[in-house]
Amino acid sequence: MNNCKVIAITNQKGGVGKTTTTVNLGVGLAKQGKKVLLLDLDPQGSLTLSLGFDQPKTLEYTLSDIFTDIIKNGKLVLSHEPLHSKEGVDLMPGSISLSGIEVMLVNEMSREQILKVYVDSIRSQYDYVLIDCMPSLGMLTLNALCAADSVLIPTQPEYLSAKGLEQLVWTINRVKQRMNPRLSIDGILFTMIDPRTLLTRSMTDVIRREYGVRIHVLQTMIPRSVRAAESTVRGKSIYSYNPSGKVAQAYEHLALEVMALGKEQHRHQIDPAR
Ligand code: ATP
Ligand code: MG
Repeated sequence: MNNCKVIAITNQKGGVGKTTTTVNLGVGLAKQGKKVLLLDLDPQGSLTLSLGFDQPKTLEYTLSDIFTDIIKNGKLVLSHEPLHSKEGVDLMPGSISLSGIEVMLVNEMSREQILKVYVDSIRSQYDYVLIDCMPSLGMLTLNALCAADSVLIPTQPEYLSAKGLEQLVWTINRVKQRMNPRLSIDGILFTMIDPRTLLTRSMTDVIRREYGVRIHVLQTMIPRSVRAAESTVRGKSIYSYNPSGKVAQAYEHLALEVMALGKEQHRHQIDPAR
C-alpha cells in the first residue's frame, strides 16, 4: 500500500512564505527519516534557487518538460530523474518555461489533470511530495490542487491575507467537488509572525475565530527572522544556515505536526466510528 502524501503549498497572495515553507518543511520531514520530493511549480523558480541550484540554464530538464511530455504524448513517456539536493530531499526543478505551459494548458483536454499523471507515477517512491505553487490561482495551481491529497496554506497575519483566504478556500472547495474529491485542507500556517506586536495577535485571533471552525489552524507558527530571508539567498535550508535559531525550531515542530496530521487522518479513515 502506498502511504505517500502529496501536499500543495499554496496561497495566491505573493510573498507569504510558500517557498520557504516548502524547503524547510521538506527538509524537516527528511530529517525525520522520510523520503521527500519537492516540486517547483512556479515559473519564478524560487524553490530551485533556494536549494542552491542557481544556474537555471544548466538544468537538464524541469517540470515544464514533464508537462510537455504528457501533453504531447497523452502520458509520461520520458523518464526524468529528480535532482538530489545536499539537504536530503529530491527536487524536480522549475523555471521560467513553466509560464509558457500555463498558457499552453488553456487549450488542452483534461488540462487540470496533467501534473497528476506525473505525481501518480512517482508516488510509490516517496513518503511526501510537496508542491510549491506560484502566487495565482491559474492553471498551474489548479494542476497542483488536482494532483494533491491536501493543501497547506501559509499566510501572514494581515487583513489582506485574511480576505484572500476566502477566495482560496472557495477554489479549493470547488476543486474538491468537481475534480478531486479526496482533497483536504491540512490547515492554515501563520508565517513571518512577530508575536510581540498587537496587530499580529489580533489578526491571528481574527483568522482563528473566522476560519478555525471550518479550517484547521496549525499550532506551529513561524516567527519572522532575518536569518530565514538570508538562508533563501544563500540557497540553504534554515537547518543548514542557522540550525539553532527560532525559525529552524519552528519548522522542525511543523514537520512533526504535519506527520501527526497524517496519522490522525489515517486513523479517521480506518476507524469510521470515530
Ligand atoms: P511568492 O508568492 O513570490 O512565491 P512565497 O509565498 O513563496 O513568495 P517566500 O519566497 O517563501 O514567499 O518568502 C518571501 C520573502 O520572505 C523571501 O525573501 C523570504 O526569504 C522571506 N521570508 C520567508 N520566511 C521568512 C521568515 N520566517 N522571516 C523573515 N523572512 C522570511
Ligand atoms: Mg514562492
